[in-house]
Amino acid sequence: MRLDGECRRMLNKVRTLGAALLVTLLAALFSVETTPAAADGKLTIVVDPGHGGTDGGAVSADGIQEAGLNLTVAKMLKQELEGLGFEVILTREDENSLAATKKADMAARRSIMNQAGVDGVVSVHMNKFTDCAVHGPMAFYMEGSEEGAKLAKAVIDCITAAIGAPERLANPGDYYVIRESDPVAVLVECGFLSNSDDVRLLTDPAHQKILAKAIAQGVNSYFGGVNMLD
Ligand SMILES: [Zn+2]
Repeated sequence: MRLDGECRRMLNKVRTLGAALLVTLLAALFSVETTPAAADGKLTIVVDPGHGGTDGGAVSADGIQEAGLNLTVAKMLKQELEGLGFEVILTREDENSLAATKKADMAARRSIMNQAGVDGVVSVHMNKFTDCAVHGPMAFYMEGSEEGAKLAKAVIDCITAAIGAPERLANPGDYYVIRESDPVAVLVECGFLSNSDDVRLLTDPAHQKILAKAIAQGVNSYFGGVNMLD
């Protein structure tokens, strides 16, 4: 009787320990599946509106400069990304450049992109081409960057889904921002200022918002939608 009682007590102890272990394991598994990748629970994206200051970038036939449009779309993109739970840093928040010379301006952008805690970079631009029939958005990644290619694909896929046409693949390229960025980076050309239909779209706030939303969705999809869990 006494031995039986001790055996039962021991068995109960083993069962309790086993249950506690199981609960701990399940809790660990559960938290692995639901905790966002970043330690602070938020991923940080640098959004870079291209050009600024005396460097207006590409110009449309009727004189609309790329720099201003880049800033407008970039600010919308910031809002969309924040809505998805990302932390966002803009490289510039007004029409001014970051430094007096182009070289110093680009170096300043590089230090913002490469500061600690940045998880990804999106540079926003408007395109221009000699053939005025060419139109539509494009997404560039640094040649040879596997992660860049994945991010650019996710972004251009979301843009294509949002605007319908033209359908494009991500393009490899070699531009300062995507080459010099340590975090995964994409350069989005929102459309062509050399194409009159694109100029109409790119200056339309409704279309700018569609683009910003699609870019944000692409970024979120690249990062596995982690910020959508809570
Ligand atoms: Zn540009």
